[in-house]
Amino acid sequence: MSTYNPYENVIAVIRDAAARLELEESDYIATMYPERELKVSFPVRMDDDSVKMFEGYRVQHSSSRGPCKGGIRFHPDSDENEVKALAAWMTFKCAVVGIPYGGAKGAVKVDPSKLSHRELERLTRRFTAMIAPILGPERDIPAPDVNTNGEIMGWIMDTYSMLKGYAIPGVVTGKPLDIGGSLGRPEATGRGVMITTREILKKLNIQPENQRVVIQGMGNVGSVTAKLVSEMGIKVIAVSDVSGGIQNDEGLDIPDILRFLSTRGNLLKDYKKEGLKRLSNQELLALDTDILIPAALENQINESNAADIKAKLIVEAANGPTTIGADKILDERGIIVVPDILANAGGVVVSYFEWVQNIQSLMWDEDEINQTLNRIMCKAIDTVYENHLEKKSSLRASAYMIALKKLVTAKKIRGIFP
Ligand code: NAD
Repeated sequence: MSTYNPYENVIAVIRDAAARLELEESDYIATMYPERELKVSFPVRMDDDSVKMFEGYRVQHSSSRGPCKGGIRFHPDSDENEVKALAAWMTFKCAVVGIPYGGAKGAVKVDPSKLSHRELERLTRRFTAMIAPILGPERDIPAPDVNTNGEIMGWIMDTYSMLKGYAIPGVVTGKPLDIGGSLGRPEATGRGVMITTREILKKLNIQPENQRVVIQGMGNVGSVTAKLVSEMGIKVIAVSDVSGGIQNDEGLDIPDILRFLSTRGNLLKDYKKEGLKRLSNQELLALDTDILIPAALENQINESNAADIKAKLIVEAANGPTTIGADKILDERGIIVVPDILANAGGVVVSYFEWVQNIQSLMWDEDEINQTLNRIMCKAIDTVYENHLEKKSSLRASAYMIALKKLVTAKKIRGIFP
């Protein structure tokens, strides 16, 4: 990934929020540094008996408000700066929705589509062993992210438990139900994006039925978002994945697309249906639509394409999809951007429920989970929106101000050791 450094984005947004809150640098300086960074290199035996080396990272950005929490991604472009940024976004996300966690993130630099299933399992288990010294239900709790899923979380749970000698389900969230996973977790991030979209439309006095949406990325987050927003009556006119996009201005058949994508390895380029137009991801971002939901990777809306965006509302389902330069251009053009740390927080909220259930050896039913998620999301959205009106600041600046205030307060109460 070029010279783009997402961590610089993070620093700029924190400084901006601190200036708006008129904070002394000594109050917030610690939030600009990750507490702990671990870089690991490790061998994996491949199916042909050769040995390959891989690099991975686990970054704990903050434990001021509780144990560190954040996903693990498998992606060939992952690097230290990306993982540092993703870890910091987790800290701010947990603070803005008010759950008692700090932030962390991990990654292995790998294209998992090039590994067999057995190789993927060996890589996951060895990476888990390498970062195990800093993990634990009271320390740092991973979860799924790009190219990782429930099965991989199950391997992480098993590896960590084997190293400790007893079952420790609370070390990871997003696990399969049978080993302590939570109902509602696989859908939680997309459900949170749907709730955010619904609530922001309400605040803008816009009926969902008249709206068209374009979604970039049809993985865990994008596909659930597509399903739930289409059930709300919003017309999904284009979606994409790494292989490119498909468009139909009359509305796409989302259940049919989801059935097609549910077969492992299926990509949209091979999806066939009458009336479809094919387009690139760049073309998709610039489509004439009411709502745009980036749900793939960071740095998708940047200085080079922000002027082409036609959507009036952007709901950031991905982490860091908009660069700081693009943010300014969108703001000047009157485009409303709902920031990632708010819009995609549903995943970590239900991860928190999973962890609470694991620690208490309890199981909540799905209604209880979805209702509690709805309540937490709506409260956070209301608070951010009110602050945005009161301070005449963007939704991103408002969300960061609220989160930073909580972090600074926690730091002040705890003091500086020793
Ligand atoms: P995923 O691996 O399930 O899906 C990623 C999707 O993006 C796939 O459809 C993939 O084909 C597509 N994609 C990859 N590269 C692309 C590119 N260059 N252009 C267009 N599409 C591309 O991952 P996910 O879990 O759905 O995560 C998506 C985003 O949401 C990430 O930014 C992630 O950090 C964020 N997020 C995920 C969760 C979660 O619970 N999984 C929670 C919060 C935020």
